[in-house]
Amino acid sequence: MEKIRKVFSVLIILTAVMYSHSFATGADEREFQTLDKPKNIIVFISDGMGYNHLKATNYYQYGQSPAQIFEQPDWTHFAMATYSSVMRVRNGDTIFSGGYNPQLASTNPNYIKRGYTDSGAAGTALSTGKKTYNGSIGIGIYGDTLLHMSQAAKALGKSTGVVASVQLSHATPAAFIAHNEHRNNYSDIARYILFHSQADVVMGAGNPDFDNDGKPAENNAQFLGGNEIWEMLKTNDGRTVFETTDGTFYVQDATGDGQPDPWTLIQTREEFQNMATGPQPTRVLGVPQVHATLQQSRTRIEEHNMPFETPMNENVATLEEMTRAAINVLSQNPQGFFVMVEGGAVDWASHGNDGARMIEEQIDFHNAINAAVEWVETYSSWDETLIIVTSDHECGYLTGPGEPDPIYQPVTNNGKGNLPGMQWHYGSHTNTLVPFFAKGPGAEYFKLMAREHDPVYGPFIQNTDMASLVFLLWGKPEIEVHKLK
Ligand SMILES: [Zn+2]
Repeated sequence: MEKIRKVFSVLIILTAVMYSHSFATGADEREFQTLDKPKNIIVFISDGMGYNHLKATNYYQYGQSPAQIFEQPDWTHFAMATYSSVMRVRNGDTIFSGGYNPQLASTNPNYIKRGYTDSGAAGTALSTGKKTYNGSIGIGIYGDTLLHMSQAAKALGKSTGVVASVQLSHATPAAFIAHNEHRNNYSDIARYILFHSQADVVMGAGNPDFDNDGKPAENNAQFLGGNEIWEMLKTNDGRTVFETTDGTFYVQDATGDGQPDPWTLIQTREEFQNMATGPQPTRVLGVPQVHATLQQSRTRIEEHNMPFETPMNENVATLEEMTRAAINVLSQNPQGFFVMVEGGAVDWASHGNDGARMIEEQIDFHNAINAAVEWVETYSSWDETLIIVTSDHECGYLTGPGEPDPIYQPVTNNGKGNLPGMQWHYGSHTNTLVPFFAKGPGAEYFKLMAREHDPVYGPFIQNTDMASLVFLLWGKPEIEVHKLK
């Protein structure tokens, strides 16, 4: 009964907030006090994962689907629309296009190949609650700077972080903590993350001193803000001022005590593993010893096409190890934390229509989720930690084999340890719905946000709904957020 009353309360408040952008009456504000508010939020995003990516990995891992912890019935599950916003000026009028039409999607096999989002716009929508243009990193359609959930977490005194299996300044991690007109400005984005964000933990690939096989090499330092900054970071001397030929950069105060908080850099797999337990520094930059991505870009042994047949980069931390380390560091803050963990190379494997590598990446993603669930059940609880598992868009138009235009045809099960029957129809993203799962305080409120219906996937939410709900539960602080320049 209490649950029903709370859900009813949130419905009233959501309606009030959506139409007036504030609490309409004192009564609403009182009801708001009774809502379940998560102390910690852990968001998992598999970049490029559609329903068939998940199903294919389930068949390979377990010979059945559904199979993952987050697919169990005590998790809230919906489909989610991912399209971005396109602004056009026609006859002097500004119009916005972009959308998802369930009827067309279920009848026309080419419909979902158009109007798809990129990871910048999708990450921004997930992080800020605003649809925007493709390529954006935390910037709105009018060039306005959008507030991230992680910035709302900071206003509450929480710690924040991002963890990615691709470069730490790539679109998805950037879209949760940075602001830039375009995702391709890697060096500027890295400098924003290092010197303008107040993030406590940033972990991802992009190491300039290694190649994609985890071997020493001289590589591009743009993902870490350039060579001069990278060299200074490596000294791990508690530096707070970085003087470079491009100017002087200062690290931010992340803990709110008025003092700048230097980065502690870790690189080796052992350093990540050791960070999973015990007291740790409060501010950590984790850059595994590999360039583009943890494993997906490693050189293939040609005849090997099954997952894991090409030996793994053994010196490189897994996404699971990075996640355990990040949560251990962030959870030192008694006020709680927000972290986004991205399985970033599921998308890269899917662009290449490479089922074996896609499954490898998706398994690493599942292992990271299982580690977080284990942490919740050991050190926290489902009363204080909300976990969300979702995707930013589908990639590769993956279906089961057989028909030329098999809309929604599921991949087929060939048993545990065998590649499932898969057919790729596209080398890019699609506009189809993706899965969304949640468990913990606030998870059931997503039921109220599923306002649209798809004939195949049922009720669905928008990718803007996650941040909208978090801003409702945590509050949306009136703080100014800045671009780099
Ligand atoms: Zn992509």
